[in-house]
Amino acid sequence: MCGIIGYIGNRDAYSILMKGLQRLEYRGYDSAGIALINPNNELYVYKAKGKVSDLEQYVKDKDVSGTLGIAHTRWATHGEPNDVNAHPHYSQSENLALIHNGIIENYAILKAELMKHDYKFVSSTDTEVLVQFIEYLKTIHNTDLVTAVQMALSQVVGAYAIAILEKGNPDRIIAARKSSPLVVGIGNDEYFLASDATPIVEYTNQVIYLDDNEIAVIRRHEGVKIVSISNVEKSPQIQRLSLQLSELEKGGYPHFMLKEIFEQPATLRTCMSGRINLEANNVALSGIIDNKEKFLKARRIIISACGTSWHAGQVAMYLIEELCRIPVTVEYSSEFRYRKSILYKDDIVIVISQSGETADTLAAAQMAKQQGAFLYGICNVVGSSIPRLTDAGSYTHVGPEIGVASTKAFSAQITVLILMALNIAREKATISEERFLTLVKALNDIPNKMKKTLQLNDYIKDFAKIFTYARNFIYMGRGYNFPVALEGALKLKEISYIHAEGYPAAEMKHGPIALIDNEMPVVVIATNKGTYEKIASNIQEIKARKGKVIAIVTEGDQMVKSISDYCIEIPETEECLVPLVASIPLQLLAYHIAVIKGHNVDQPRNLAKSVTVE
Ligand code: GLU
Repeated sequence: MCGIIGYIGNRDAYSILMKGLQRLEYRGYDSAGIALINPNNELYVYKAKGKVSDLEQYVKDKDVSGTLGIAHTRWATHGEPNDVNAHPHYSQSENLALIHNGIIENYAILKAELMKHDYKFVSSTDTEVLVQFIEYLKTIHNTDLVTAVQMALSQVVGAYAIAILEKGNPDRIIAARKSSPLVVGIGNDEYFLASDATPIVEYTNQVIYLDDNEIAVIRRHEGVKIVSISNVEKSPQIQRLSLQLSELEKGGYPHFMLKEIFEQPATLRTCMSGRINLEANNVALSGIIDNKEKFLKARRIIISACGTSWHAGQVAMYLIEELCRIPVTVEYSSEFRYRKSILYKDDIVIVISQSGETADTLAAAQMAKQQGAFLYGICNVVGSSIPRLTDAGSYTHVGPEIGVASTKAFSAQITVLILMALNIAREKATISEERFLTLVKALNDIPNKMKKTLQLNDYIKDFAKIFTYARNFIYMGRGYNFPVALEGALKLKEISYIHAEGYPAAEMKHGPIALIDNEMPVVVIATNKGTYEKIASNIQEIKARKGKVIAIVTEGDQMVKSISDYCIEIPETEECLVPLVASIPLQLLAYHIAVIKGHNVDQPRNLAKSVTVE
């Protein structure tokens, strides 16, 4: 959500900043802007609603010279997406230009106060209030900019990552963060600033992740000074990035989403590598091994997540309860964090987030930690905020996921949760040795089954054409396939903009069945284990009302095939592993419907990749 990029060095800042904005496009945005200080020490701001390419078009004949600048992609929270509300925002004197990711919650009070002092506002944003407030404090206290930023940020309520340029100061960028990510890249006598490492990796692999309440003062030829809001100087911790530039390219695929769907056999291998040892018949997640006693003693596991990660959490509920015999609840982070939740010391809270920056999940994690629960994180982005907060955790290791609709991160989250459940179950002796070995072998074979399932791509592409007429879809599953239904419906909504709902199949009778007619497509995940016969009866109920049934079945299935309108056959596996294979045709179905409808699959409207506001 929103992207920040900054540069100070010896090169032309404009081209680095524009390329950086393009790299950040995947995070989701609705307008873009740039501020530069030119060689005459003049501060320029250019901004435009729409894509980064619209901004490029807008600045075509403008002065974009300079070796220092900041740029932004905005995901509107306060004020509609338009040219005026786009960032950077000037202060009243136009001496300061500021970009911001996040929300200033007390902006209205600050704005009212500033208006009393004759400050005028041109935008509807909370961000403009912040830059004006900084200038106001700088003026009335007759102080330097860093001190004014410290004063302002200690009075601001909310979340932010900010970067500021000051006219007449062509050798300095000031940046700060609280609850929104910010990374400083250290090159050869040049410095970068960004919301994540993706725009930095082609220039340097040396980075500093800013922590909450820290301000980075980046000076040309001098380096980076980190100071807290309360003015305590900190020594910067430089880390090495392992990200490869090739991971940020489409690699011949028309969209990142399709590339990421097809990457899954390989990303799952990487995710399992070093964690499954087939020769020794062992599964070992270091986060579990190092905290074995906590997991053995746990009376309850609470999983907190949002969106697709919440669906992975739902799969984990079935898994952990079945294999480890520990009760599990799965919470929406946005509700969990504000409910008067009761947590005990021997509770384990697992937070799941691809980006590791999801604002609600981060806040839920903070709340759980304050209440003394043991906190375990499952994230993809190394060094992000959640892994830095948790007591222990596991990375999914799938590389950058650029498509906004999550695919490979989802399958890897489930894989980590399966490894986790197997690890705990064996330690707790709630699983027989024979069953453990069967599941480990079957899990190790999942990448091959995914590969086989991906061969259905052309069939699904053809088949998707039939359903582009639909304005609604229903997805149904039972047991482990219920979260698969939820995730399938979410994928379709996200990128095709077709309304879709996922239901536990037997719930249909309690309301949703009223929606069924001969135009309603119903996707049913009806693989051959668990409640197979029961879901076959649920399909009969749909057919009796003339719904169009698209069934995901196990290869060789006869019964469901004979009663469904369309069938997608996937390879057989253990019941608890089916979500890993069954999700693939649903990802492909959503993808092809969205492509046929001509949508921007990688950057669907209104959505952001890393949801850094609550
Ligand atoms: N709240 C700010 C705005 O609406 C920043 C949004 C963002 O994170 O892009 O302009």
